[in-house]
Amino acid sequence: PPLYMQRHQFVVEFVKSCDPRKVMDLGCADCSLLRKLKFHRHGIEVLVGVDIDCAAIRQRAHALAPLSSDYLQPSPRPLTIELYQGSVTEREPYTRGFDLVTCIELIEHLELWEVERFSDVVFGYMTPCAVIISTPNAEFNPLLPDLKGFRHNDHKFEWTRTEFQTWALGVCRQYGYSADFTGVGEAPDPDRGVGFCSQIGVFRRHADVSNAPMNNTLQEPTVYRLLYKVVY
Ligand code: SAM
Repeated sequence: PPLYMQRHQFVVEFVKSCDPRKVMDLGCADCSLLRKLKFHRHGIEVLVGVDIDCAAIRQRAHALAPLSSDYLQPSPRPLTIELYQGSVTEREPYTRGFDLVTCIELIEHLELWEVERFSDVVFGYMTPCAVIISTPNAEFNPLLPDLKGFRHNDHKFEWTRTEFQTWALGVCRQYGYSADFTGVGEAPDPDRGVGFCSQIGVFRRHADVSNAPMNNTLQEPTVYRLLYKVVY
């Protein structure tokens, strides 16, 4: 299967094994991961997509609408889906307290100073129980035919495994998480040791780090803009 499907399948498998109730996809673009998660729902009750690009979200948002079968066989636990326009560099009070935050092929679109903000927002403010981050593995690039420079002209960087893991472990130390590293997209000759085409970090919050609402968050203004909401 194409690489983006392998990344999404990785998230589906994680949901299957960890059974999160509230899931947020940052940089959801055309909502293709959300559609897949809606289908492989397991225990999910709240499914939220966030992207800075409102047109990208709107394009296929209607595909998240309930099917007639969803009405014919209503679930005992309703599913709420919400899509927001917003930036991962901004603190939005609503985003606190999720079980899982996914961030698939997004960070490489940020400037490095924005990655700092992103780390602080996701791990220091949203404080979800688990975070899945995927990003290109630069060490794999020599195996991609005809590639000059980065894989996409909007990428601000592409990290080696060491660069990604150094950033990730720094975040873990600072905010009280641990991380495991894996990926999807195997090299044809695994002996070359270049790693996966997409590298993935799976982060889990240490049990002693609270993500209860902060005293002052209720007064904080919301900054995201709601574009779509459905409950069924
Ligand atoms: N996550 C999608 C997937 O799995 O197929 C694809 C992500 S696409 C390569 C990167 C997305 O990140 C784009 O939709 C872009 O609009 C979004 N994005 C870029 N900067 C952002 C920011 N600061 N906040 C939120 N989304 C952002």
